[in-house]
Amino acid sequence: MRIPVWSGLLRTDEGLVLFDTGLHPVHIERPDATYGPQSSLAIVMSSEDAIVARLASVGVRPDEIAVVVNSHLHFDHAGNNGAFPKATFVVQADHLAFAKGNPRFPGVYWDIAELTYLPTTGRARIAKGVEVVPTPGHAPGHQSLAADLPESGRVVLCGDAAFTRENLERGVIRAPDEAAAEESLAYIRSLVKDDLDRAFVSHDMAAWSGWRSAPRTYR
Ligand SMILES: [Zn+2]
Repeated sequence: MRIPVWSGLLRTDEGLVLFDTGLHPVHIERPDATYGPQSSLAIVMSSEDAIVARLASVGVRPDEIAVVVNSHLHFDHAGNNGAFPKATFVVQADHLAFAKGNPRFPGVYWDIAELTYLPTTGRARIAKGVEVVPTPGHAPGHQSLAADLPESGRVVLCGDAAFTRENLERGVIRAPDEAAAEESLAYIRSLVKDDLDRAFVSHDMAAWSGWRSAPRTYR
């Protein structure tokens, strides 16, 4: 099964916001760099997939990113945090506490002295019409990003609160805390008023293939 790993760039009146930082480019040459050859994950990554290269393709330098929102700190969502030393990283406080020193959240990619983390609690404003919303279940303190776009309406970048569209359709997902995770799925559905085309799930190849990818945009 092939699944995508992606990040979102939001252009706001208050600066550029990045949602998740993707996989570290060490995986281009060494696909098993994080979890070793025994892992069932086989990472396929090319140099143009690296977040800094993707941003460059739309004319953005890393130091222009004002805020990074990490849904959570797994290596496919926080792998390039180190590329953004000028940014403020918004992460739920209970997630930071859970991830610190936890081998399932390799600190080499995010627990970096020069990075500035802003621990948040619950819903928090990021910019006008943009807020983080707590969606725990996949991990304590997991969060998603809700943005009210002028033309598209509200969209939600789910992170691993929803891997696939089917998770949202059926209201079920495999998670360490399934009760919390199912509440989070219902919450996301309520945020997009059941219009699942406006819920951007984390790892759904079919859904992802139909989205506008940079340089195309949603407005
Ligand atoms: Zn993920």
